Amino acid sequence: MDKFLFFKKEIERLKSAGIYKNIALLESKQDAVAKINGKKVINLSSNNYLGLAGNYLMQKSAISALKKFGTGTGSVRNIIGDMTLHRHLEKIIAKFKKTEKCVLLQSGFMANIGLLNAILTEKDAVFSDELNHASIIDGIRLTKAQRFIYPHCNLEALENFLKKSIKQKFEKRIIITDGVFSMNGNIAPLREIAALSKKYDAITIVDDAHATGVLGQNGEGSVAYFGIEKDWDIQVGTLSKAIGVLGGFVATKKSLALFLEQKARPYLFSTSLPPAVVGASIKAFEILKSPKGKNLLKKLWQNTFYFKEKLKEMGFDTGVSQTPITPIMTYDDKKTAVFSKKMFSLGVFVQGFWYPVVPQGKARLRTIVTAKHTKEDLDDALEKFKYVGKKLKII
Ligand code: PMP
Repeated sequence: MDKFLFFKKEIERLKSAGIYKNIALLESKQDAVAKINGKKVINLSSNNYLGLAGNYLMQKSAISALKKFGTGTGSVRNIIGDMTLHRHLEKIIAKFKKTEKCVLLQSGFMANIGLLNAILTEKDAVFSDELNHASIIDGIRLTKAQRFIYPHCNLEALENFLKKSIKQKFEKRIIITDGVFSMNGNIAPLREIAALSKKYDAITIVDDAHATGVLGQNGEGSVAYFGIEKDWDIQVGTLSKAIGVLGGFVATKKSLALFLEQKARPYLFSTSLPPAVVGASIKAFEILKSPKGKNLLKKLWQNTFYFKEKLKEMGFDTGVSQTPITPIMTYDDKKTAVFSKKMFSLGVFVQGFWYPVVPQGKARLRTIVTAKHTKEDLDDALEKFKYVGKKLKII
C-alpha cells in the first residue's frame, strides 16, 4: 500500500486539468526586470511596490544590524528574543500609523493569526469580508467566535448582520477587512465601515498588507488614505511587500498591544525576527518619509495609472482595481495558465490565479507594476499582452 497515493493522485489530477502550478524560480534580486527560470524577463508579479527589496541603504542597515546583533535572536520575544532593535521598529511603525503602540510579529500571516486567535472567544461575533486574505480566514477558523461572512464590500449586508447580532449578547463585535484586496486591487470602504462600527459598537480591523507603502501621502496605508486614524481601531500590516523585507505587525491602542504581548501565540511561541530583517525594515521607514520615498510613491502611481489605462484601452477586463494590482480577467483556469505561459515565452512574467486562490470561475492573470518599471518595460509588456490576448480571443 502506497501511503502517499492520495497526494500523487491529486498532483496527477491538477496536471491533467492543466492547472498544476510549476513554482517559478527567481535567480536574481526581486526587481522590475529579473532572471526567472533561467530567463531575463519583465516581472509583473512581485509585491515589491517601491522596489525597496533591492535597496542599497537597506542592505547596509541590515548588515550593520547583523554585525551588532548576530544572525538570530535565539528565543521567542517574551523569553529573551526581544532586542532593542525590535522595540525601535515598533515605535517607528506606531508613529507611522498614528497609533499608540505596535506589536511586531514574524509575518503578515502570523500577525492576522496571532491577533484573531488572541482576541476572539466563543462569546464574540466576527464580521469578515468574503474576499479577505487566507490568513484572516485561517485566523478566524482557529477561534470559536460566531462568524458572519458578508458579501464582498457589501455594506448593506454587513449592516444587516450587525443588526441581527444586536439581538444576541456578544461580548465583542469585530469587523475585519483587507484594506486593498489582493486579487482584485480594490480599496475597502473603510469610512463607511467605521461609521457602522460606531453605530453597532464594533471593533474595526484592517489588513493593510497591500496598502502599507502604497496608499496615503507617504504610504501610511488605507486608514490614512481615508483620513480616519481616530475612528479606526486596529491596523495589521506586513513588512514583506512595499517595505521590501519580512515581518508583520499590529498597530493599535496601548491596551490591546499589551494584551497581545501576553496572549498572541506567535509572539509567545515562535522566535522573533532576525536582526538583519529588523535593521533593513527600520531603514525602509526612513526612506518612506524622505523625498526619495515620496518620489518612489509618485512613480508607482504614475506607472499604475498608465498601465491600467492602456490595458483597458486594449479591451481587457481589469475588474474593479483602484491600485497597482490590476487583474486581467479570463474567467477560465486553463486559458489563464496558457496566457501566463505564452507571456513568459515572450519575456514577461505574469502569474495566473485560479481556484482555490480566487473563487471558482474567476480565473485571472494578476499584474502588479512597481516604481522600478520604466515606461519602456511597461510598453514592451503591453504590446505582448495585446498580441497574446488577441491570439487567445480574450480581447
Ligand atoms: N494579508 C494579505 C492581504 C496578503 O496579501 C498577504 C500576503 N500574501 C498577507 C496578509 C501575508 O503577509 P506575509 O507575506 O507577510 O505573511
